[in-house]
Amino acid sequence: MTEETLRLLLSRIKDVPDYPQPGVMFKDITPLLADPAAFGALTDALAGLCSTYGATKIVGLEARGFILAAPVAVQAGVGFVPVRKAGKLPGATLKQAYALEYGTAEIEVHAEDLAPGDRVMVIDDVLATGGTAEASLELIRRAGAEVAGVAVLMELGFLAGRARLEAVLGGAPLDAL
Ligand code: AMP
Repeated sequence: MTEETLRLLLSRIKDVPDYPQPGVMFKDITPLLADPAAFGALTDALAGLCSTYGATKIVGLEARGFILAAPVAVQAGVGFVPVRKAGKLPGATLKQAYALEYGTAEIEVHAEDLAPGDRVMVIDDVLATGGTAEASLELIRRAGAEVAGVAVLMELGFLAGRARLEAVLGGAPLDAL
């Protein structure tokens, strides 16, 4: 991705202080989504990574990960698989709990959507503590599939999500655009 494209993407991400709670700087990507040049450049970059990873499926993490991952899957010609917060998928699922600052959360995936032989790319908008992405890797592996790589638009470096994920990626790449 060129410097110019990176600058375009950065210019379309809005910092919203104290949302959804005091002390959090929320990274709002809706201006980027509303700009077809920026959204297209992001989709192109992620589709390029999909091909570099040799991924055969793309997992998007609810909810903004869906918005980014779905067009990339179509462009790359691979299947899209949603990893959802618990209780939203109607079929048989695999569930994975993970720790939040206070309490726990659970994500799930339709068991039939991932299988041995799949090489899976995970896409989300923001990597913060890495807890959500780490839980998604567990789900992928429990389904017998292989993790091809993780790609996010942004990484919040001070939360050390990269170190946490790299410890469980088994050498698979982690890219933050
Ligand atoms: P984590 O599991 O801590 O890495 O959190 C990642 C999830 O929370 C992602 O799905 C993000 O969309 C969301 N998230 C966390 N922090 C932020 C932030 N500062 N701005 C926007 N989204 C965030």
